[in-house]
Amino acid sequence: MYESFGIDKKIISLVSNVDETIKKELDKVDDICEFNSFKVLKAFQDNQISDVHFNSTTGYGYGDVGRDTIEKIYADIFKAEDALVRSQFISGSHALTVALFALLRPNDTLLSITGKPYDTLEEVIGIKDNSSSLKSFGVNYEQIDLVDNDFDIERICTRLKSSKVKLIEIQRSKGYSVRKSLTIDKVEKVIKAIRDVDKDVIIMIDNCYCEFVSKKEPTQVGADLVVGSLIKNLGGGIAPNGAYIVGRKELVNLAAERLTVPGEGKEVGPSLGMNKSLLQGLFLAPSVVASSLKTAIFTSCLLENLGYKVEPKYNDDRADIVQNIEFGNEQDLVKYCQGIQSGSPVDSFVVPLPWDMPGYTDKVIMAAGAFTQGSSIELSCDGPIRPPYIAYQQGSLTYEYGKLAIMKAASRLVK
Ligand SMILES: *Cc1c(COP(=O)(O)O)cnc(C)c1O
Repeated sequence: MYESFGIDKKIISLVSNVDETIKKELDKVDDICEFNSFKVLKAFQDNQISDVHFNSTTGYGYGDVGRDTIEKIYADIFKAEDALVRSQFISGSHALTVALFALLRPNDTLLSITGKPYDTLEEVIGIKDNSSSLKSFGVNYEQIDLVDNDFDIERICTRLKSSKVKLIEIQRSKGYSVRKSLTIDKVEKVIKAIRDVDKDVIIMIDNCYCEFVSKKEPTQVGADLVVGSLIKNLGGGIAPNGAYIVGRKELVNLAAERLTVPGEGKEVGPSLGMNKSLLQGLFLAPSVVASSLKTAIFTSCLLENLGYKVEPKYNDDRADIVQNIEFGNEQDLVKYCQGIQSGSPVDSFVVPLPWDMPGYTDKVIMAAGAFTQGSSIELSCDGPIRPPYIAYQQGSLTYEYGKLAIMKAASRLVK
């Protein structure tokens, strides 16, 4: 069966060793999955989810019980005061943008303590010129880089003591950088240090790719506001778009008034038939995130066996669902991404090529055969064409489908 799917004999024999090696790691993932499933189920029951919540509103969206209850469930899962979960957010980038514009005022300072933020935020902040950026409204931006993959706590505290910072942004996942993603323990430690010197600076977390990877979310370790995408972890592969903002009530409310209308805030926003998908996606999310993690662990072990550098290693503690593979040359990166595409359920017959993309300096190759456009909780793999030729792989709705696609992609490397 494997061979008819284009999987090489060498890969088949390697995989039985890999399966044995990673067994313990997969068990750990199951344990986390069980814990997070409990959180979700408990929140559904505490909020008495029923058929009525699958109903929809149109127009202004007044009195959308389903929408309001989904937001209560998110707040419960994050142990937070309030949440905004909307399909009026295009995706995570939009929710991050809304949050920043909601909380920052002219002459305020935004401080990133995880180095340069995610690519799509460059024009939002004004790192790259844009006449609608925060900078164009007079918001200052500063950043402190990580040191040895951890927060530079000394510099952060010195900076906070020198003059007022309004908002600190922490991006947990690595984005297209080579640094490691940040575990909840590291986030907890830096928040404690920040609170020792500044009680009221707003701490906002870009939580993309990190939800349900561990047993705690950032709101449980002192973050004021947490933001993420529904075409990633918490959408469970079912949400067709959207994003969430969760945290302190007052801040969530400011974000709602920026997304909709000052004075209307959370009261408006029709769910347009999406309530059931958002609930079902959230219900599946712990297990879909677990499948993504297992696929990443499998990839890490197999590709390391084939002689490539990988990050994280199969037995490292993970903070997100992203797996890096360093190919060291363009051909292998391209072959692997094409292999992932050919192992997908949708568009398996197309061949991705490196191409110029808006917002990127180098050509990028992107493999995604997904049901939802751009969804990266579904198996996807991409990489900028520049040394050291790193692929960023994430997702898979099930471990079995993920494993098959990885075996197929790896076969192209040994042929
Ligand atoms: C994906 C991602 C975003 C943007 O989310 P989209 O849903 O793609 O807009 C922001 N930050 C990080 C770290 C991400 O991984």
